[in-house]
Amino acid sequence: MPKKPDPRRIKKHRVYTAFEAAEALSIHTQTVLRWIKAGALEADRSCRPWLIEGHALKQFLEVRRSAGKCRLRLEQIFCLPCRAPRVPDGRMADFQLKTPTTGMLTGLCPECGRLIHKRTRRGDLDEIRAHLDVTIQKAEPRIVGSDAAFGRVTFSQEAAGNAKTQVR
Ligand SMILES: [Zn+2]
Repeated sequence: MPKKPDPRRIKKHRVYTAFEAAEALSIHTQTVLRWIKAGALEADRSCRPWLIEGHALKQFLEVRRSAGKCRLRLEQIFCLPCRAPRVPDGRMADFQLKTPTTGMLTGLCPECGRLIHKRTRRGDLDEIRAHLDVTIQKAEPRIVGSDAAFGRVTFSQEAAGNAKTQVR
């Protein structure tokens, strides 16, 4: 297997074009564009060239590396701060379709309370739903990716979920 790109080559506070990111990582520009188009890597697509925030790219690469090492189960998401696979808190997760066949599964880490997400195949959803209570989110027409935008949706969902739990 080819070596995976090294996240340490990316500067957190820099903004990259796909070309610059590819150069920094010694990979093909098309590879970076493919990650973005697949919805796996968040980028600002409202301008040309598309812009990728260093911290988003770094995190994306770190998750890829770690996930490769520890083989997540379908219902597990890798938590970066904990450096461990986690089943989302309350066994609840959101799924947002990014392409016709793949989407992003999002939940909260039960240990540190942070947002965790991973790219997931739509075809795996049925099996995941056997383990998790998954809320399907409507896909956004454009990914103007930032953790804040992503988090808002999920936290309101989470709050709604908590309210339900308390009533029960
Ligand atoms: Zn955690």
